[in-house]
Amino acid sequence: MKKLVLILTFLISFCFSQEVQELTWPKGDTFLTFLDSHKISQSLYFNLEKEDKELCSEITAGITYHLLLDTDNTLKQVLIPVSEDIQLHIFKKDDGTYTFQTLPIKYDEIEETLVLEINHSPYLDIIEKTNNKDLANELIRAFSASVDFRGMQKGDHVVIKYKQKVRLGKYFGQPEIIGALVEVNRKKNYIFRNLNDDKYYDETGKSLTNFFFKTPVRYKRISSKFTKKRYHPVLKRYRAHLGVDYAAARGTKIYAAADGKIIFRGRKGGYGNVIIIQHKNSLRTLYAHQSKFRGGLKVGSRVKKGQLIGYVGNTGLSSGPHLHLGLYKNGKAIDPLKIIKVTKSKLQGSEKTKFLAYTKKVSNELVSSIEKIDLLKPVKLERTASATQINPRKI
Ligand SMILES: [Zn+2]
Repeated sequence: MKKLVLILTFLISFCFSQEVQELTWPKGDTFLTFLDSHKISQSLYFNLEKEDKELCSEITAGITYHLLLDTDNTLKQVLIPVSEDIQLHIFKKDDGTYTFQTLPIKYDEIEETLVLEINHSPYLDIIEKTNNKDLANELIRAFSASVDFRGMQKGDHVVIKYKQKVRLGKYFGQPEIIGALVEVNRKKNYIFRNLNDDKYYDETGKSLTNFFFKTPVRYKRISSKFTKKRYHPVLKRYRAHLGVDYAAARGTKIYAAADGKIIFRGRKGGYGNVIIIQHKNSLRTLYAHQSKFRGGLKVGSRVKKGQLIGYVGNTGLSSGPHLHLGLYKNGKAIDPLKIIKVTKSKLQGSEKTKFLAYTKKVSNELVSSIEKIDLLKPVKLERTASATQINPRKI
């Protein structure tokens, strides 16, 4: 009997061991604790290049990752996403040792135009129609500076032209609004995303997202720029760098790039000593590899743009001292240099002319989407009382 149970247990584990598990990355776990829990040598991490070490620190609690165990319950392979474009892949070779690589994430991207007639509120109506909470949040955020949603009336329209990534049959990553129209008491308000700086502007080319960043360090040179995903033809592999590296002498002062609140201060794997600041507009900045923090700052401290927060170092990796600056919008890494170089709140010159022509095209599309649904609406036949009703007073 005992033998039979053993065989059964073995069979069950055999049948299930080859299935890919979908798991959620637990809070507090890091790349190194993951290696430890699967009895994989930490040298796999310590032998990585600087860029890859930094990527390992981009793993965030709560993300979904996929894992496949071998028949002996050791790790066969795992795929851990670190951005919307790149995932870490660890797999066991025939000799039992492990290899690390970064792989692109495959997804489809759909472009859609959503047209709504307001019934409850834009937020609830978007979710009801699309089940896309991220899209509802992004629309509210995008219009927060220019529209008071409380003035909306039933029957006002919302039109959103946007891109959405889809992966394994689910929405994936943050939706990107190309342009949107919101009617408030039938008055049309627009926003358009400028691809050059990722900001929203109105139809006159005025910026609606007032965030201005200051370069946080006096640097010698930029030693590594932002790359979402790049194929290295010589190394024949994918690489990514989700921030900007400013080379500077050890001890150089680091300043907050904008006003905000400190939400993290401590060690963060390959990023070493890190401070993360939460700003408005769902933006965060991350300052890595600091030799030390300025005293008196803690999680919850408010900081002003240009305020000293720490000092350049090379904690977290072995290459020279530099500041790695990360910038995140809704948790998604974006290029800090695109934001830092823009200091004006209004587009000018040829950039403005080009952008206005583009907004004209998009706004025409948005407006014609409303006209299309109005045409499709069944015409409500109402009995006109005046024709049949007799006004007794006139008799
Ligand atoms: Zn870096």
